[in-house]
Amino acid sequence: MAKMAKAAANEANEANGQAGVNKRSVAVIVVVVVLLAIAVGVWAALQLCPAYYAVVHDGDGGVLQLDLAQDKTVRVETSLGVNVVQVKDGAVSVVEADCPNHNCMDQGAVSHVGDQIICLPHKLWIDVVSNAQETDQSAPDVISK
Ligand SMILES: [Zn+2]
Repeated sequence: MAKMAKAAANEANEANGQAGVNKRSVAVIVVVVVLLAIAVGVWAALQLCPAYYAVVHDGDGGVLQLDLAQDKTVRVETSLGVNVVQVKDGAVSVVEADCPNHNCMDQGAVSHVGDQIICLPHKLWIDVVSNAQETDQSAPDVISK
């Protein structure tokens, strides 16, 4: 019985010794895993959160790309009329227009890829796209105010 107890004590001591080494190994592993997790997280964030843009095509053939991450109000004036396009809180909308029916304003704010706002009288439309399908047209920004 005493022999067994001694053996058990030896095992316990061994276990303690190993635990000391293991704790250090575990700490190293935890640090590596945390660093990997951060790297993967950053990578995933870049992959899963693409930038969204509103691409405004106006009646005169002009194209204007607006970053939905940046609040901005743009006055789009063409030979057919005026639309004031607003980017706010990640969504784009037409807040003012001198078209007869104001359908474009009634369409409200859109923010999802594939969403569109159309102003038929002004032949203006706004597409929401992500950077995955970004156009290479870089129209100059026209800022009102
Ligand atoms: Zn309109």
